[in-house]
Amino acid sequence: MRIAVPSKGRLREPAVQLLHDAGLGPETPSDRALAFPCRNAPVEALLVRADDVPEYVQDGVVDCGITGLDIVRERGAEVQELARLGFGACTLEVAVPAESPITDAAMLRGARVATSFPRLARELLMEPIEIADVHGSVELAPRLGLADAIVDLVSSGSTLRTNGLRSVATLLESEAVLVGPAEPSAAALQLAGVFRSVVEARGARYLMLNAPEEALDRITALVPGSRSPSVLPLSEPGMVAVHSVVPAADVWRLLPELEAAGASSILLVPVERMLG
Ligand code: AMP
Repeated sequence: MRIAVPSKGRLREPAVQLLHDAGLGPETPSDRALAFPCRNAPVEALLVRADDVPEYVQDGVVDCGITGLDIVRERGAEVQELARLGFGACTLEVAVPAESPITDAAMLRGARVATSFPRLARELLMEPIEIADVHGSVELAPRLGLADAIVDLVSSGSTLRTNGLRSVATLLESEAVLVGPAEPSAAALQLAGVFRSVVEARGARYLMLNAPEEALDRITALVPGSRSPSVLPLSEPGMVAVHSVVPAADVWRLLPELEAAGASSILLVPVERMLG
């Protein structure tokens, strides 16, 4: 089966890393490669522009493809989202020069908006606007007198600030997604399941600790998780081991609380896959 992977830009490396973490064993593609095979699975990756991925999927040239949700929505191709991939997070925002009197999206009626997302700008702004369709360095358009506002992707917001712009509204939250055709192949659905298990595992840690039995209630209250933790007796009387899967984002807060509740020998290890 064939999967389309972005050939360049910020989604390329994390997309190849996902194939790697999913255990497919992608051959390392050279900079100018157009395709590369996987060692462990009958999967061929085609390197195409992220912008072109929706069309390749819609036309059945590939079984599925990785690209940004913003691109999928902008292209309006007949494809469906099979999995959210947890990288390439950004937002599509409307921004105006810092000194502009515009404070919200409703004030953009009749404004000239520079963007490389004309379809999404019209669809999501819901105000009659004039579009200046620009590609690259969209942030310069207001300063050049080309537009009153821009609609562009933002991740940290530093590019906006550097260019003297202020965000007035978020139109779309985006991240990398796996898309398939309206009727995906069984292989594409299976790969989507594997990717989801990797993405879920990246956000989790396996926690192991020892504790006196009398501290068990306090400790299990701290690590409720999706399921109840495993509690195993230790050879030392009155002592137990507690194992649980916890959200990676909670770890910084959880560990000192567990220690204070009586936990010792705390171990935290990465999780490779989470299924079921
Ligand atoms: P690139 O090929 O590097 O221009 O990346 C394009 C895709 O990366 C976009 O369509 C988004 O899905 C994603 N992305 C994530 N953060 C940003 C950002 N700050 N600016 C532009 N694209 C971003």
